Amino acid sequence: MRAIRGATTVQQDTPEEIRAAVKELLETIAEENALALESCISILFSNTEDIRSLYPAKAAREAGFSSCALFSAQEPVIDGALPLCIRVLVLAEGDAPARHVYLRAAAGLRKDLGKYAIALDGPSGSGKSTVAKRLSRELDILYLDTGAMYRACALKASQCGIDVSDEPAVAAMLQTLDLRIEYRGGAQHTLLDGQDVSEAIRRPEVSMAASKISALGCVRKKMVEMQREIAKQQSCVLDGRDIGTAVLPDAPFKFFVTASVPVRAKRRFDELCAKGYTVDYAALEKEIEERDRNDASRAISPLRRAEDAVLVDTSEMSIEEVVAFIRRRIQEKV
Ligand code: C5P
Repeated sequence: MRAIRGATTVQQDTPEEIRAAVKELLETIAEENALALESCISILFSNTEDIRSLYPAKAAREAGFSSCALFSAQEPVIDGALPLCIRVLVLAEGDAPARHVYLRAAAGLRKDLGKYAIALDGPSGSGKSTVAKRLSRELDILYLDTGAMYRACALKASQCGIDVSDEPAVAAMLQTLDLRIEYRGGAQHTLLDGQDVSEAIRRPEVSMAASKISALGCVRKKMVEMQREIAKQQSCVLDGRDIGTAVLPDAPFKFFVTASVPVRAKRRFDELCAKGYTVDYAALEKEIEERDRNDASRAISPLRRAEDAVLVDTSEMSIEEVVAFIRRRIQEKV
């Protein structure tokens, strides 16, 4: 007999979400295990106590999984357990090795089994990209710097002489945008029309243009599609403004990394000086405030902390402390 385990989550306790999540979980289990439904003996569900609007077993029946015995149970209430979670144990005939399936936020419960994503959102200069790079190295997963993609769009617009607030012109530019993200020796390289622009997109004037162009719906749509495609292929840590709220709302690990404006301005100042730029600290502080305002007030996917993201204020923390804190939080959840 085969015993196949799995789990998934819903964002809200509604019959529709439970139906959809249960159907997706069972269909994925059947597909990954080449499981004929007739070979299923029984399916046991256990769900967290906040699942109240529909028994997962009933959802499975409604979805057509009707030939085997179905059973739902409620799990004990455990502090810190992943909420709105539905677990499953499928008993089936046969002796092929079981492929367990953990979807949505439940993917984080079994990082050893599948792909998972860590979402790091926050304002510029909060330290999230340094932290993301470190995490990616320590956990041996990909790092996707999503800001680089908006920066590349802004650079392209400037090369084409397009005003970043002219949406029709930017939309036309996106039609032929050749933007690729490649990894060499573990480092992200941003390629625009085949040219490596990883350094050029860091120029201070590109920062403000990126903040403006990223408010356009056509730009966000295209970038989010690309980001989801990359995140689907492998485990990764993504940093940005909207990863936990819009790009990967089901990411099992979400953090909102922030710091006070003066601390962030000082970090950016040091970073730019180290690269040889001459910068005016006061102007930089103003620019950070303006970018914060742009990012937080735009209509589409504004910068905000996802409800289920852990807040990390790095003003008084070293990078090592932040990385250790995040790793601890991930560990506690697994
Ligand atoms: O993070 P970074 O400063 O490189 O991002 C450049 C700009 O791109 C940000 O100011 C922000 O407006 C935008 N951005 C975004 N959504 C993301 C990442 C960056 O809107 N996920």
